Amino acid sequence: MDESSLEVVTALQATIVASTFCQKIQKDLAGHGSILKSDRSPVTVADFGSQAIICKFIREKFPNDTIVAEEDSTELRKPGYSKILEPVTRYVHDFIPDASSEKVCAWIDYSSHFTKVRFWTLDPIDGTKGFLRGGQYAIALALIENGIVKLGLMACPNLYVDKDQPDGKRGCLFLALRGKGSFQMDLEGGHKRRLSVSKAENPSEVLITESVEPDHADHLFHQRVAQRLNILTPSLRMDSQAKYGIVARGEATLYLRVPSPSEPDYREKIWDHATGSIIAEEAGGKVTDTLGNPLDFSSGIKMERNHGIVVTNGILHAVVLKALNL
Ligand code: AMP
Ligand code: MG
Repeated sequence: MDESSLEVVTALQATIVASTFCQKIQKDLAGHGSILKSDRSPVTVADFGSQAIICKFIREKFPNDTIVAEEDSTELRKPGYSKILEPVTRYVHDFIPDASSEKVCAWIDYSSHFTKVRFWTLDPIDGTKGFLRGGQYAIALALIENGIVKLGLMACPNLYVDKDQPDGKRGCLFLALRGKGSFQMDLEGGHKRRLSVSKAENPSEVLITESVEPDHADHLFHQRVAQRLNILTPSLRMDSQAKYGIVARGEATLYLRVPSPSEPDYREKIWDHATGSIIAEEAGGKVTDTLGNPLDFSSGIKMERNHGIVVTNGILHAVVLKALNL
């Protein structure tokens, strides 16, 4: 697969439209228009709309491909949810003129069950809590074949382009192709540059990134690991898979995600890591779970065989795993 393949062109087109859509909603609704799902996690007008748009683009070009995405329209179709379905339809209509409520629900439901051989996985808004706070979020799409992520595309509309200008231009699109490298572009797909992870060899000099949410990762344990590695700089907390992007750019050297004591048996979901992991790996990084096992994208939606996530620049991987498992 190369950059001119239909998979890449379609994924790029879909992600660019979805990210423009999400930015518009974040600007207009500013935290309104969300509901709590049965697992108490929030879902917004943007999650549903982004999924509808991306699934429609992919299904049109790849009618036989499976898409495994985070949302479905069950809640949205309930009589009480018109306050969400109505704006989802209205906003999607601005981007896809033949959108109706029925069609939007049908596009969302192109997402189906897990399959093994070849499928797309999508998190239409990763870091919904960040999105609602006006912070970081990502639109993350990946293509997986026989358990191997082949293509990853991630839009981070709020991520600064240049770390030295955190208040400067925002909006990054990350593209990674297996064996071909990892790249950053602007949100229109221009200004492409190749990414590479940090060359740090001394753990004490590195920056750790971790989730903002204390329920998503064990911040206290991360701190203990940092002490073991003589890392004095406080961790950079960031929502969404944007964390993989900043490791790929070499700004952070480590991304730690040890399960939180509030949910020690939590199993990570494939759409939360497929895209990010190829972006870090193709920039020269290494991604495993906390025991050093490769991430398992071949068993189902939940990564049952993995415990937490560790991302490094490769050079420091063994040292970090050792510090985690003392
Ligand atoms: P982050 O922005 O890094 O905190 O990651 C956001 C993702 O964390 C969401 O997309 C959820 O799927 C996922 N998540 C939800 N609950 C947990 C949990 N208990 N532990 C780890 N991740 C979780
Ligand atoms: Mg997510």
